[in-house]
Amino acid sequence: MHNAIASPPAAVNEPVRSYAPGSPERASLRSTLMTMRGDEVEILPVIDGVRVETGRVESIHPPHERSRSLGTFQKARTEDVEAAIRGALAARHDWARLDWSDRAAVFLKAADLLAGPYRDRMNAATMLGQSKNPYQAEIDAACEMVDFFRFNVQFYREMMAEQPISAPGIWNRTEYRPLEGFVFAVTPFNFTSIAANLPTAPALLGNTVLWKPSPTQTYSAQVIVDLLEEAGIPPGVIQFLPGDGADVGDPVLASEHLAGLHFTGSTATFNHLWREIGNNLDHYRAYPRIVGETGGKDFIVAHESADPDAVATAIVRGSFEYQGQKCSAASRIYVDPSIWPAVQESLAAQMADITVGPVEDFSHFVNAVIDERAYDKITGYIERAKAADDVQVLHGGEHRKDDGFFIDPTVLVADDPAYETMEQELFGPVASVFVSDRSFDDLLDLVDATSPYALTGAVFAQDRAVLAHATDRLADAAGNFYLNDKPTGAVVGQQPFGGARGSGTNDKAGSKLNLLRWASLRSLKETFVPATHFTYPFLDTDASES
Ligand code: NAD
Repeated sequence: MHNAIASPPAAVNEPVRSYAPGSPERASLRSTLMTMRGDEVEILPVIDGVRVETGRVESIHPPHERSRSLGTFQKARTEDVEAAIRGALAARHDWARLDWSDRAAVFLKAADLLAGPYRDRMNAATMLGQSKNPYQAEIDAACEMVDFFRFNVQFYREMMAEQPISAPGIWNRTEYRPLEGFVFAVTPFNFTSIAANLPTAPALLGNTVLWKPSPTQTYSAQVIVDLLEEAGIPPGVIQFLPGDGADVGDPVLASEHLAGLHFTGSTATFNHLWREIGNNLDHYRAYPRIVGETGGKDFIVAHESADPDAVATAIVRGSFEYQGQKCSAASRIYVDPSIWPAVQESLAAQMADITVGPVEDFSHFVNAVIDERAYDKITGYIERAKAADDVQVLHGGEHRKDDGFFIDPTVLVADDPAYETMEQELFGPVASVFVSDRSFDDLLDLVDATSPYALTGAVFAQDRAVLAHATDRLADAAGNFYLNDKPTGAVVGQQPFGGARGSGTNDKAGSKLNLLRWASLRSLKETFVPATHFTYPFLDTDASES
């Protein structure tokens, strides 16, 4: 029996722990990290709450220590996907009918478990499996994931409270039904929190979900599975299907019951999935909702009035944190020539303090890139830049893949603003600088037109009029726009995240707008005293007209 308009605890952002030397959180994380790196796990698809052996085994190694084994995962086959679809459709009835407050309680419990007993394990798994340093793991795998769980519940409650007006004698209501069918969540390697949010946001609204994590994030994905299970998610609500893209994707997209795609990853993969959905359109029972957050080529523009130290710091943090493997990472930098010497000086001083290495040594700001394919792609750009006449390698340029995929943070200075590293998404620790000799307006037009993406961007200036002008002129160039701050590090509830153009559908993860995409609204109209005859007054005879 549910006789309450329940109000969940007010959502506040999970405080970020510092992991400073001597702090208790540092000792606790280190101990979990060292234990986990010595263990081997076996990760299996989970369908209807049951772990399924598929025999298609893949080994897991830290990107920064390839000789170490963290265990194995098994990849889902077509028959597993088909079983997962049947199970998700069967689970939908009870899950959708459970009171919203009971569904919400599962995710609020998950948030508290993660903020407490699961925190070290989730962070350590993200450090080992994805090569994040403690701070990068903390802001992602702990804080952002907790925030997604708590804020989504709050936004869901607010969303349902939005109800239509009612005329006298009538009561109008809006129901926020889950979609009919199942939702397919496809997640990237680079954020553990996104891997959790994409299946859980639709699930909160009563949808059942097939979740395909990235093969290179499977290790921390298993901790999410364990967390949700302990929080009380019923079997079948989120089907866990690790594996390769098309092996899982093809049978899912072929199902007539596909009701939505919740995707984060590269633009190329999203375009492929959208195209496939278009090809299958005649087979679906309903038009699938398509939400995709994709690539970026994110910029920093430094005006002549900018503070050079602030610009240099934004380049270092914005371009090199998590090895530049953030969709929001600053990768093209436009600097006014009058401040470039000072920016360069500050940059050189800061770059000298950066070290690159494995995550177990907490002093490294930069760790390994995710896999060999990424390493080869990024270093290919670096080697071409070294050989090019019109590009200078200002910092870095060195790389090695003996036991880990290490690339030194690299700053290139390009004479040509259309040079390949100024235009294309590299997804690595490479920042390309163009020292602009153009008028500020021409420069803003160049920034706007240089790449097909529009995810994040930043402008640095002390002059208020310049900030206002750039904000207006670059109105369509970024979904998340920063004034005197680096273009990374969006916080749930504070800067709803997403971009337009080639960067995605801009449905703003962790916001009410995103949740709305997983609801199919039903309007109810109830008339208390219905009419009992068809006639209206205008039909009566008017004697004056004859
Ligand atoms: P990716 O496109 O290689 O993979 C994303 C997911 O798609 C993975 O799970 C992959 O296995 C899956 N996939 C690939 N082919 C598939 C298919 N045919 N069917 C079903 N699934 C398939 O991306 P990635 O390398 O994991 O992540 C990096 C990319 O993600 C970058 O481009 C980055 O900008 C983007 N990203 C964007 C955001 C954002 O919010 N805009 C956030 C994080 C990452």
